[in-house]
Amino acid sequence: MPRLDYDETCVFCKIIADKIPSKKIYNDDTIAAFHDIAPVAPVHVLVVPKVHIETLNDLSADDAALVGKLIVVAKDLAKQLGIAESGYRFGFNCGRDGGQTVFHIHGHLIGGVSMGWPPFPKG
Ligand code: AMP
Ligand code: ZN
Repeated sequence: MPRLDYDETCVFCKIIADKIPSKKIYNDDTIAAFHDIAPVAPVHVLVVPKVHIETLNDLSADDAALVGKLIVVAKDLAKQLGIAESGYRFGFNCGRDGGQTVFHIHGHLIGGVSMGWPPFPKG
């Protein structure tokens, strides 16, 4: 099932519903953001839609406003967290080759470190 209001097997749905703890830094009617439990950089925040959508592949044209808002929220959080001027990355992993491990769409807001490009090969 690619899209649900709540998936009881999903760790991010549980975080959104406050059924498991997280360090939330943003919450509105459609979007939440919280610090990653295993940060890869000094700033590592996950920005998630509240609706359970498994991967980017499950998005439709109707989601364009939601996804656009997600990016605007990420940009505001970058400023709040002090990385707007130094720079940051905001990226989505999709599927096996993309390295996705939690199947509820989330953008990684990463900063506070100078990053390289491209992000492969793995390990
Ligand atoms: P991805 O590999 O793109 O699916 O990213 C999943 C991210 O979720 C990883 O960076 C994990 O460290 C993070 N993560 C997993 N469980 C939790 C949790 N309970 N609270 C916060 N972040 C989590
Ligand atoms: Zn979910």
